[in-house]
Amino acid sequence: MAYQDNGRPQRQMFDITALNITCSECGATIDKLPFEPTQKEDGTYGKLYCYECNKKRMRDRGPRRDFGGGSRY
Ligand SMILES: [Zn+2]
Repeated sequence: MAYQDNGRPQRQMFDITALNITCSECGATIDKLPFEPTQKEDGTYGKLYCYECNKKRMRDRGPRRDFGGGSRY
């Protein structure tokens, strides 16, 4: 996977099929996320949504900055 050097950072996708995480909205198995999920103390990953539901939620609520955390520019 190569990064294109055109000034726009590519969104890295994490393959999480091995984690068996299902979407909190539609119940579909999530195989990829744009961020790495972190396991909480209770052994769950909190509420996670599949790509489609994420898209819907982003559209409903507008762009949010809490996507993935870490550095932002
Ligand atoms: Zn979903």
